[in-house]
Amino acid sequence: MKQCTNCNKNKEESQFWKRGGSRGEELYPYCKMCKREQNYKLRRETKKKIIDLLGGQCQTCGHKSETGVSLSIDHQNGEKHKDACNILQWEWSRIEEEIKKCDCWLLCMNCHMELEYKRKHGL
Ligand SMILES: [Zn+2]
Ligand SMILES: [Zn+2]
Repeated sequence: MKQCTNCNKNKEESQFWKRGGSRGEELYPYCKMCKREQNYKLRRETKKKIIDLLGGQCQTCGHKSETGVSLSIDHQNGEKHKDACNILQWEWSRIEEEIKKCDCWLLCMNCHMELEYKRKHGL
């Protein structure tokens, strides 16, 4: 048994991820559940930072979103950057670089759907 330093619960060691992948010996101080929570939180914060960086509103219709939930980040050359959908997991410095390098657009859900549809059907 091991105590999670976040929720302070005692849990089986299988409830903790290992550092350095499955061959790693050392266990994370947080249990899997807390780690997942932490990842979500981190991603939410990262997304908010990206949104701020991109002007905070839909670049097509001007829609604003306080939480960022109705805004999405569009990579105009998304084909070349397939891994960009994992952008929220990257280091902040790498994200900043990526955003500067390839024109990212901030779009609301509606405009994003329209754009995706047009792209897909070559409109
Ligand atoms: Zn925990
Ligand atoms: Zn829009």
